[in-house]
Amino acid sequence: MIGIVAVSHSHALARAAVTLAREMLHEQPVRIEIAAGLDETTFGTDAVAVSEAITAADSGDGVLVLMDMGSAVLSAELAIDLLPGEHRVRLCAAPFVEGLMAAAVSAAGGADLAEAAGEASNALAGKQVHLGSDADADADADTGGGGGTDGGAGTDRGTGGVAGAGGRAGAGAGGGAGAGGGAGAGSGACGDAGVDVGSSAAPAESGPRARAEFVVENPHGLHARPAAKLVGAVRALDAQVLLRNLTTGAGPAPASSLSRTAALGALSGHRIEVTATGSDAETAVERVLALADRHFDEEPSGVTAPPTVEHRGGPLPASPGIGIGPLWRIAAEEFTGADLAAVDPAASPADERLRLDAALTAVRADIDRLRARAGGEAGIFEAHQLLLDDTELLGAVHERLAAGETAASAWSRTLGAAADELDRLPDDYQRARAGDLRAVRDQVLVALLGRSAQVISRAGVLVAADLTPAQAAALDPTLVAGIVLAHGSPTAHSTILVRARGIPAVVGAGSGVLEAPEGIVVAVDGKVGTVVVGPGDNVLADYTERAVAQQKQREAAVHEARRPATTTDGVTVHVAANIGSLDDARAAVRNGADLAGLVRTEFLFLGRAAAPSVDEQEQMYRALAEAADGRRLILRTLDVGGDKPLPYIDQAPEANPFLGVRGIRLALAQPHLLRDQLTAIGRVAADHPIGVMFPMITQLAELRAARRILAEVVDPDIALEVGIMIEVPAAAAKAAAFAEHVDFVSIGTNDLTQYALAAERGNESLGALADPLDPGVLHLVDAVRRGIAGRARVAVCGEAAADPAAVPLLLGLGVDELSVSPPSVPLVKAAVRELDTAACRALATRALTCESAQEVRALT
Ligand code: PEP
Ligand code: MG
Repeated sequence: MIGIVAVSHSHALARAAVTLAREMLHEQPVRIEIAAGLDETTFGTDAVAVSEAITAADSGDGVLVLMDMGSAVLSAELAIDLLPGEHRVRLCAAPFVEGLMAAAVSAAGGADLAEAAGEASNALAGKQVHLGSDADADADADTGGGGGTDGGAGTDRGTGGVAGAGGRAGAGAGGGAGAGGGAGAGSGACGDAGVDVGSSAAPAESGPRARAEFVVENPHGLHARPAAKLVGAVRALDAQVLLRNLTTGAGPAPASSLSRTAALGALSGHRIEVTATGSDAETAVERVLALADRHFDEEPSGVTAPPTVEHRGGPLPASPGIGIGPLWRIAAEEFTGADLAAVDPAASPADERLRLDAALTAVRADIDRLRARAGGEAGIFEAHQLLLDDTELLGAVHERLAAGETAASAWSRTLGAAADELDRLPDDYQRARAGDLRAVRDQVLVALLGRSAQVISRAGVLVAADLTPAQAAALDPTLVAGIVLAHGSPTAHSTILVRARGIPAVVGAGSGVLEAPEGIVVAVDGKVGTVVVGPGDNVLADYTERAVAQQKQREAAVHEARRPATTTDGVTVHVAANIGSLDDARAAVRNGADLAGLVRTEFLFLGRAAAPSVDEQEQMYRALAEAADGRRLILRTLDVGGDKPLPYIDQAPEANPFLGVRGIRLALAQPHLLRDQLTAIGRVAADHPIGVMFPMITQLAELRAARRILAEVVDPDIALEVGIMIEVPAAAAKAAAFAEHVDFVSIGTNDLTQYALAAERGNESLGALADPLDPGVLHLVDAVRRGIAGRARVAVCGEAAADPAAVPLLLGLGVDELSVSPPSVPLVKAAVRELDTAACRALATRALTCESAQEVRALT
């Protein structure tokens, strides 16, 4: 006898449905297993639980799986891959409750898998017959007709791949004609919040009485939960409500049907048309718009935020500008054949196996961390973890290792082949899993080869989970129109590099973006933090128009960029550039920077197997100084650790590297590195205007120790300015202690903010909390200015220096210099020229009395 598995988001629902089905069996034995909910009370589905349920239900004749919607389907599909041994399994698209009853009854009667699936799929017929032909119009709109589910008899698979025929149940075909006609008759263009009400008193059936459009702003789109809200809001009304996704052209779908509403594929940023007929048409449309305004009652990040903290999920602005282009991803072939083949000649298959195991362990730990950060988006990482432990895949990899392949080659080829196989399938869900396989393949390759896949830039918008600093540094801004990162944060070092390249970017867009297909057009606004995948004509026109306006504003600012930034009352503020490469140095000059206020020398140390020698460093710094063409370079000594590890620096693992041995702490722990670097800097300072700056200074003793090494290696007659970065709150509070020992201080608001607010700068879910305009951070900036009291220059080189809202505040707090990414220099100079310092001081004084960053921002 076949077995049955009920997969649902809700344990209670599945248990009740199974109880109901058993009522029909009159105690005939049928194996029905439940895989539902993450536990008794938590909604969710779990592929491992489904696979265990299938194994338990299978007595040898096969198992029919009935699912509710969404991730239940994904989990059931994944479960098949997880099954140990041979099982015949059929996923059935039948309605969950009716299908379960029909399948149970037919199984008890001895039906085989195909018969039971057919019975289950026809289970809506009774209801349809009962509702009769006079309900056709309603049935078309409300249920999508039975045709959708009837047509899909299910997908029948062996555990080794797809064995049976039968596609996924088609979307209900009913309702199409009437809906299409109705939507087409909508009157004119409507604003986001407007409701068009037809003026005619025609009967409801003759066309829409009300129509409007709204833009989905929920970070994860109109997925099941918000869609359920929408359905609930209109179902009881006397109105036929239809939805159409104007961005993708999907629909129309009756708003009374959860599955069809969710199937509109309405992602964040998509424009949705709502039309309604019937006596309550206007009310229905108004209710939908009101819900859309309230983001369908979802917390933006999908979590309940404490009242005083606004946890902002969804995309965050990361690099200003608008980018439009086809979506592309980092391709796996960018690990070359030579990378994969390179192997120590003495390495045996056993050694390679050990290397692979170590890489898998490291990646598991990484994924654990990502899962913890991903919150509601953790599902994708669970799938990745399951792939890492997939015994079938590992078995194939081990066979290749035994045959003498390197770990990198065996892993890459096995997962690549499995992904290619999935790519050939017609099913969207399965194709999406090919992307998962490739992501996991690449992550393990990164761990195995000790570096990231090289990014070969392509034209269009790069969509990735995250970027490493090395990958970001390699991007070609002439090709890459924009970047969308599922994770990441505005002050992560990779984002800083993206900004330096002037590439529009948003970060923290959520894992959903990773599912978007290659080649689809993506529009990104990195200034406000929006992403639209597959924009419709109107959205595209809007983005293009704004891009043109921004470009004009930029060109005007660039035209004036070489002039000093002098306020309306005659105070000149130095606007400097933060640079990390020769290209950046050239861009700084092109954009009119007065000096390079922060040279992140660590980026010259990346992507190498060993630290550069003194001679190499001298050559690099000299090249930068020459490119800067007489402008002062402030070279920051190596600031590694935290989110910038270097493979050739031996560092013990730390539970919290941001609070660990980083910056000056590491330099003093490995003084040969600092000595070499200061020697090279001293040589260049002999004939170029140079400053040296020590990062992460916490105590005067650290500065003294660094200065002692400096005095050992650099002739005291060489003019070399010395300064420190103020990134640690304690250093800000006791700035007076440093004043006599430095020529300048530069406030690193990126780190100062993370340490002051205890909000890790790379953590996308703390994006809004980690705001440098928090009054607590502003008080620290004020403390620096008061402590230094004119005895040294005060600069700001964190990303806040380029924030239009922060510029007047920083000037008002007495900052002398703003150091920003090269493309931001002209805009910051233009902003300074509009300001009056007395007004800035008044503004800063008020900001210091505010309670929150939001309140401060409201002042500016
Ligand atoms: C900062 O912390 O603000 C800073 C400029 O340094 P980095 O971003 O390189 O840590
Ligand atoms: Mg810093």
